[in-house]
Amino acid sequence: MLKIDLHCHSNCSDGALAPAEVAARAVAAGCDVWALTDHDELKGLDEARAVAEAAGVRFVPGVEISVTWDKMTVHVVGLNIDPANETLRAGLEFVRSGRVRRAQAMGVDLARAGIAGSFEGALALAENKEMVGRTHFARFLVDNGHVKDVQTAFKKFLVKGKPGYVPHQWTTLADAVSWIRAAGGQAVLAHPGRYEIGKARMLALLEEFKAVGGVGIEVVTSNHTAEHVTRFARLAAEFGLLASCGSDFHSPTEGWCSLGKLPALPLSCTPIWHDWPLVH
Ligand code: AMP
Ligand code: MN
Ligand code: MN
Ligand code: MN
Repeated sequence: MLKIDLHCHSNCSDGALAPAEVAARAVAAGCDVWALTDHDELKGLDEARAVAEAAGVRFVPGVEISVTWDKMTVHVVGLNIDPANETLRAGLEFVRSGRVRRAQAMGVDLARAGIAGSFEGALALAENKEMVGRTHFARFLVDNGHVKDVQTAFKKFLVKGKPGYVPHQWTTLADAVSWIRAAGGQAVLAHPGRYEIGKARMLALLEEFKAVGGVGIEVVTSNHTAEHVTRFARLAAEFGLLASCGSDFHSPTEGWCSLGKLPALPLSCTPIWHDWPLVH
C-alpha cells in the first residue's frame, strides 16, 4: 500500500519546522506521496519539493485556505495547484492581509485578561510575520507559563467566548474553491469532523462545497475517530466526493498525529489520487 500524506504545515504558516525539515520527515516516514499545505501561503513549496523529489517522494504542491462559511471558519485544502498562478496568489495575499491586524486585536484582548506582550511575543514566534496566527499565540502562552501545552491554550484562550478570541472574516467558500480551480488544483474540504455543526448544517456545507466546484473531502485525518471516518466515507459517496487523507502535521511535539502515519481509507472510498500519475 502506498503511504500518502496530503496535509502538512511548515513554519511558512503555523508549523514548527522549516519546509525542508518537514519534507525530510516525510522522507523518513517512508511517504510515497506527500503534500505541503501551509495556511494561505505558497512560500514553502519550492524548498519542500526539492527535498522530497531528491529522495524520490512524489511531491504534491498544496495550500490550506481559511474560509468563513455561515459565520464559522472552515478550511479548504487545494492539491496539485500551480504555485505560479496569479489568481491564486492574489487571493491568498488578500486572505493573509488581515492577519496582523487580527493579531493586534488578540493582543489587546489578552492584555485585558492580564496577559501582557502577547502580540509582540506571538509575532516573534512567527517565522513568516504575515502569517501570525492563533498557534503562535498558543506557543507564546505555553512559553510564558500561562498554560501547560498548546491544547490547553486552545481550551482556555483563543476560542469563541475566551480571552484572545477575535472574530475574523476570511474568504468565501466559492472564492477559495475558484482560486484553487484557477490554479489547476483540486479543492478538498479539510477535517470535516472538527466543525462543530449539526447534521443539517453539515449537509448544507457539503452541498454548497460541491456546488461551487469542490471535489474532495478529508476522510482520514489526525483527529477523526473511527466513527468520523465511517461517517465521512459515507458522505463522500453520497455527494460524489473523492476521499483524501492527511495528518495535519504541525510539530513533532504539539500532540498532532505524526506525519505519514495514517490509517488506510475505507475501501468504499475513491481516493483523490485515483487518477494521479504516481511514483512507484
Ligand atoms: P488561525 O488560522 O490563526 O485562526 O489558527 C488556526 C490554527 O490553530 C489551526 O490551523 C490549528 O493549527 C490551530 N488550532 C485550532 N484549534 C486548535 C486546538 N484545539 N488545538 C490545537 N491547535 C488548534
Ligand atoms: Mn494550523
Ligand atoms: Mn485546518
Ligand atoms: Mn492544517
